[in-house]
Amino acid sequence: MHEQGLIKEIMDKVLREADKHKTKKIVKVKVKLGQLSHFTPQSFKEHFYYAAQGTPAQEVGLEISSFPAVARCIRCHKQFKLDTAVSFCPFCQSIDFTIISGKDVFVESIELK
Ligand SMILES: [Zn+2]
Repeated sequence: MHEQGLIKEIMDKVLREADKHKTKKIVKVKVKLGQLSHFTPQSFKEHFYYAAQGTPAQEVGLEISSFPAVARCIRCHKQFKLDTAVSFCPFCQSIDFTIISGKDVFVESIELK
């Protein structure tokens, strides 16, 4: 359900933008996927096009890139990139850290005609 909510949010944003510019022709949407988000580029595409059926966004080109997850160590306050291979702070080896980005999905740009 979380995935669908997210897709809906992104879809709403795209459609609102088109609406604002009084066009129904959406050419391209660039999306950034955090590495810890629930999507892979492929699954995001599938969800997106499924949700876009019957809307002006159904034939839009999707450009998806991912960005790394970043965490901040609670003990030494340093920031580091988080991937599945890293589950502790590389500076002080603490396992106490908070994820500060990488769970999000956001629209980078919307290209209209
Ligand atoms: Zn640390």
